[in-house]
Parts: sequence; C-alpha cells; structure tokens
Amino acid sequence: MKALDELTFDNRFARLGDAFSTHVLPEPLDEPRLVVASKAAMALLDLDPAVAKTPVFAELFGGHKLWAEAEPRAMVYSGHQFGGYTPQLGDGRGLLLGEVYNDAGEHWDLHLKGAGMTPYSRMGDGRAVLRSSIREFLASEALHALGIPSSRALCVIGSSTPVWREKQERGAMVLRLAHSHIRFGHFEYFYYTKKPEQQAELAEHVLNLHYPECREQPEPYLAMFREIVERNAEMIAKWQAYGFCHGVMNTDNMSILGITFDFGPFAFLDDFDAHFICNHSDHEGRYSFSNQVPIGQWNLSALAQALTPFISVDALKEALGLYLPFYQAHYLDLMRRRLGLTSAEEDDQKLVEDLLKLMQNSGVDYTLFFRRLGDESAALAVTRLRDDFVDLAGFDAWAERYKARVARDGDYTLEQRRERMHAVNPLYILRNYLAQNAIAAAESGDYSEVRRLHEVLTRPFEEQAGMEQYAQRPPDWGKHLEISCSS
Ligand code: AMP
Ligand code: MG
Repeated sequence: MKALDELTFDNRFARLGDAFSTHVLPEPLDEPRLVVASKAAMALLDLDPAVAKTPVFAELFGGHKLWAEAEPRAMVYSGHQFGGYTPQLGDGRGLLLGEVYNDAGEHWDLHLKGAGMTPYSRMGDGRAVLRSSIREFLASEALHALGIPSSRALCVIGSSTPVWREKQERGAMVLRLAHSHIRFGHFEYFYYTKKPEQQAELAEHVLNLHYPECREQPEPYLAMFREIVERNAEMIAKWQAYGFCHGVMNTDNMSILGITFDFGPFAFLDDFDAHFICNHSDHEGRYSFSNQVPIGQWNLSALAQALTPFISVDALKEALGLYLPFYQAHYLDLMRRRLGLTSAEEDDQKLVEDLLKLMQNSGVDYTLFFRRLGDESAALAVTRLRDDFVDLAGFDAWAERYKARVARDGDYTLEQRRERMHAVNPLYILRNYLAQNAIAAAESGDYSEVRRLHEVLTRPFEEQAGMEQYAQRPPDWGKHLEISCSS
C-alpha cells in the first residue's frame, strides 16, 4: 500500500512533445472536498484507501497541489461530432496529469476532468459541474463492475467554485484512470491537418504501448486495427446486452482501447426500448440505443480513413467487415447466458429478438426481467413474469419455446440455474433516478447517498441486505428524466 507521495510516474505521452499536447497547470477549485472515492480504483495505483480522507487528497485532485514528477498536459484531438467533422476539440477541460505505474508494472493515465481552461477550450470555461462529475464517476465504476470495459474513476472532488450552466452550479473535478486517453479523434487530427510524421509517431506509440503483440504480425498496423475493431464490437455488444446507452458516440469519445469513454447524458434502459434516445439534443436519434451498433461501425470507418496512410483501403475494408460478425457473436453469447442457456442453437437469435419485441411492446423492465427469470425454474419463472406483458398470447407462445429450449439445453438443478443466471443478470444498475437522488443530496452537501449508491453498484450481481430500494423500477417522476447535456 502506498501513500500519495509514493506514486511512480513515467509520462510517456507527455514525452511525445508539443505537437501532441500542451503544458497547462490545473486551475484550483475553491474549498476542495472529497465527494466520493473508489477503493477499487485506488487499488489500481496501490494506494492505501485511507489516504482518500486526508486533506492533501482533495488538494491534489482539486487542482491545488501537484506531484513534482507530474507533467500536466492538454492533449490535442479532433473528431466527428454527430457525423460532421470538427477540426479541433480538446482537451478543452481535462488534463493528463501524468502516467503512473503500479507494483504490477501496469501504467495508468491520471486524467483530471474539469481542471480549467486550456488552449483548446474554444468557448468553454474549462469546468465540469458536480452532477456530471458524479454521473461519470458512478457510471465508470458501475460499468466496470458489470464486466463492461470502461475508463475508471478514482474520485470526485467538490468545491464552492461557481460555474454557470442553465443556472449557477458548483464546479467539481473527476479523476479518471485509463491505460490510455488516446481517442479515434487523435488519429483524425493528424490525418486532417496533414501531419504524416506526427501521425506515424502516434501510431508507433499506440502500437508499442498498447498492442505490442501486433508487432509479431506481418502487417502490425493492420493487426492493430483489427484488434481495435474487435474490442469495439465486444464493448458495444455488452452495452446492448445490458441496456447501456452512451448518448454521444462522437469519434472524439471513442477510445483506441475499446473502453467506454467520456460520459455525458448516458442512461441505462429502465423499460426495454430499442429506440430510446438518452441525449435530448440528439433530435434525429443518431445515437439511439439500437443505432449504437451501426454507429460503432461508422466510427471505426472514420478511424480507418485516418489510417489510410498506413494500411491499404482494401485491407481496412476487410477488417471493418469483421465488426458485425464479431458483434453478433459476442452479443448472442451474452444473451444466451442471460437466458440461462449453456449451448448454442441456430434459432437462439430469433428467440432473443422475439423476447425483446414483446418487452418493447409491454414496456417491461429490462434488468428485472432477466433477474427474475433466473430466480426460478424456467416454467415457474415465465408463469410469474407473464403478468408484466400486455400481449399475453404472444408471451405464452414465446414462453413455450423458451421452456422447450431450456429442456434441450441440459439437465441442471434449480440451484445451478439460479447461480449461473444471477452471475450475469444484475439486480442493481445505475438507473437515472437513482443517480438523480444521489446528485440532489450531494448538491445540498450530503454525499452519503452518492457513496452508498457507489457501494451498491460495485457488486451488482449480489443481493445486498437492506438495499432493496436500489433494485426497484423507477417511480413515475424518474421514468423520463431530462438529463441536461451541458456538463
Ligand atoms: P464532450 O461532448 O463532453 O465529449 O466534449 C467535447 C469537447 O469539448 C471535449 O474536448 C471537451 O474537452 C470540450 N468541452 C466540453 N465542455 C467544456 C467546457 N465546459 N469547457 C471547455 N471545453 C469543454
Ligand atoms: Mg468528449
């Protein structure tokens, strides 16, 4: 276990130099205070969890203090936003403080979001408000606990600094951890500004640090792109399987590591709705829940375009062609497990699709349906769940197919079925209304609810005594919350 002054830095991205990032110091928040910290994320840096309570912790992550070895940099990148190219985007309010490596030799970027203005702030104030920082913190740690690849969050630091959005709010900072903060938009920036040397340097950097195994392949850059395609396909398969809607899948929010990145007006589905749009400024539904799948491919094509100096167009097209089959395989595998199936049959895809249609028509809670399905034998569970459906004949027909499918799947005890299904079907997810309750309390100075919710979400598959209220469908007020896109 380490104290805060015992971290070891190795700032490899900073060493790429001024063409890639600019030295900027964080702008301190007034009266910084700890809102919430993640013990699990602290463990990634070998940090003793007790240090979160020390004043120096809030000072470090509230922009007041800096390690002598840290090299705070604003990274430069561009990207496609809602399909249109923006030549320069960021970092407008985040700083890569440095790269730390732990005792296991893993490198982690420390990125402070809401750290003040940078040369890339455009019209923004460089700040992040408390509510959006809490949302990013809770989502990163909740996705990780669900087994969905994501950037991590070490802590949220609150303050008394006024920040203007639609109304006056308070500034906060969230400390994000990831093995890399390089986005698709980094490659696009050097491609569209026609800087082939820097682009090659960036590609080498990513290959050496994050895809070293691709070096062994005859075409290392192509192998790396294929890997990025596969990782993104797998990540999006998991979003779809668990009902996560990202909301702003611009290419500057896509990580080259295939992890969920940059949280804005995201949401987990309550009722299943394939057409759900969580971002209220997304009038055309470009980033609606079901569109996430084709948009994943669109984004990878934008990255492919930026990689044309290194890889032939034919090879890139072939690699892009792997996206949908990868996606389908990962998605179906997860959905089979969510249904408690251990074998694969041709018609399973249809079984899943037909269930989702029925859920859509009846507004069935996406999370609780699967959890309850695993509480009982197939026959008993479908009888209990039947009341949630409006189209009873449709559900009965599906239930017969499901029972027959389970019978063909194998002979297992109820206990085995329950254990297997509960291990993949969460009881607790980050519902918008739960986040909203925690934020409302935090805005009035009470951080206990954020901390409790975070704790519950770190063990989403385990029934936790006394936490029944976190496993409920939303009350009416919580069903259609408008989450402000300003953050
Ligand atoms: P986002 O839509 O949050 O992914 O942000 C897109 C870009 O705008 C990122 O590069 C951010 O750094 C930048 N940005 C967002 N909000 C602000 C802000 N308040 N001040 C400066 N830049 C911002
Ligand atoms: Mg972003």
